[in-house]
Amino acid sequence: MAEILFHNTLTGRTEPFVPLVPDEVKIYTCGPTVYDFAHIGNFRTFVFQDVLRRFLRARGFRINQVMNLTDVDDRIIERAAAAAIGIREYTEKYIQAFLDDRRALNLEPPEHIVRATDHIGDMVRLIQILAEKGFTYTSEGSIYFRIAKFPAYGKLSRINMSGIQAGTRVDVDRYDKADARDFALWKAPKPGEHFWETPIGPGRPGWHIECSAMAMKYLGQTLDIHSGGVDLTFPHHENEIAQSEAATGKQFVRYWLHSEHLLVDHEKMSKSVGNIATLRELFAQGAKPSTVRFLLASVPYRRQLNFTEESVQGAASSVERLRNFVARLRAEKLPPGADEGMAARVAKASEDFDAALADDLNTAQALAAIFDLVRDANTAMDRGEFRQGDAAPVLGALERFDAIFAVLTDDDAAKLRALGIGAAGAVVTEAEIEALVAERQSARKRRDFQASDRIRNELSERGIILEDTRDGGVRWKRK
Ligand code: AMP
Ligand code: ZN
Repeated sequence: MAEILFHNTLTGRTEPFVPLVPDEVKIYTCGPTVYDFAHIGNFRTFVFQDVLRRFLRARGFRINQVMNLTDVDDRIIERAAAAAIGIREYTEKYIQAFLDDRRALNLEPPEHIVRATDHIGDMVRLIQILAEKGFTYTSEGSIYFRIAKFPAYGKLSRINMSGIQAGTRVDVDRYDKADARDFALWKAPKPGEHFWETPIGPGRPGWHIECSAMAMKYLGQTLDIHSGGVDLTFPHHENEIAQSEAATGKQFVRYWLHSEHLLVDHEKMSKSVGNIATLRELFAQGAKPSTVRFLLASVPYRRQLNFTEESVQGAASSVERLRNFVARLRAEKLPPGADEGMAARVAKASEDFDAALADDLNTAQALAAIFDLVRDANTAMDRGEFRQGDAAPVLGALERFDAIFAVLTDDDAAKLRALGIGAAGAVVTEAEIEALVAERQSARKRRDFQASDRIRNELSERGIILEDTRDGGVRWKRK
């Protein structure tokens, strides 16, 4: 099997991946700030992290993954106050929505999904250790990390520290490299704000400390992999390194993996730009969960992903092609025996699929290996050369594919219903119905009855009944 290579932001190189303890991989992934619904840019990163863990598991590793939920920050405090409710109550709705969205995208649950506000004590203890070791100072009730005391500061983002004045501080959690300064570990309460009474005084944690505290609590002082979107490299991950390594004197993370952004019109999808789309919005417009998962997984994580209507359609038809192929494989009357050439073809496709993923999770190349196999098998079937004994190995290869991509099971309608976006939710437009009816007619013409049934079922699930007329035409009506 091909050696696993990951691009490590810390070294700037693509390196062989070997976990610290054989067979087990300890992964920390920064989760969402639950002040609103996550957008599909966020889910690009979460899908990448899911592909990462699924691939490592397929390679036989046990996975221990922690994901945090940032359920206290400036925006949450502000919005909860505006709604006149507590922050737990305010964030609960978005946490549930996030977990529901994850299920719709077949994202495996990490072993630990943990809330920041359940770990205030762990953060306070970490800050106390940093204080004892002289890495902090207090100003107006807030506690800051003194970056001048940590000479390795900047090693992840390769920031040039020469122009940075020691002793100046920054109070906001999200800031640019140009603003690199001592950052807040603990923030003094402001009038009317939510705060905790603790041994280090009243207040609330800065954003960065939660990840260091929770990562080390569940995974120990040194993790194998830490990941997030590239925007987290600085300052968030740089600060995580400073806090953790200053406290333990040990390397915090061995491999840092960062995913590139999802873009719309060549601009990062983000709430502040105002170009976001949530999963639910996409679903209500007719996109299927499997389409979105496929699309987000199909572009290798270190490449930017430009989100367009066309890319959604392309992903939908790719999933359809794979599902149709599996249906054909199960239904087709095949001649007996087995073809040696096909067995070799399947072995090569499986090897190429695995090797592509081992090469820093090159999902595009992994997909190419599978689509090539599907094309060759379809051609062999058309020619009557695909035999009964060839079906099981090909299905086996597709199972290995689906253990990572997770799009073959046709359960989109049920997933949408679970989100409350079913026949009753999303209205199917007339144009959409006409397009599907035309697609079904052409499937019938080429005697592809699986495809034609599939379209009939899909429309039925979305509340549309088809009636075939005697003259070969079709009428439709809403249920
Ligand atoms: P946040 O809730 O802002 O902390 O973000 C949650 C995760 O989504 C982090 O790993 C971010 O880096 C990631 N993220 C945010 N915007 C995008 C985007 N447009 N494309 C890919 N990942 C993103
Ligand atoms: Zn984090």
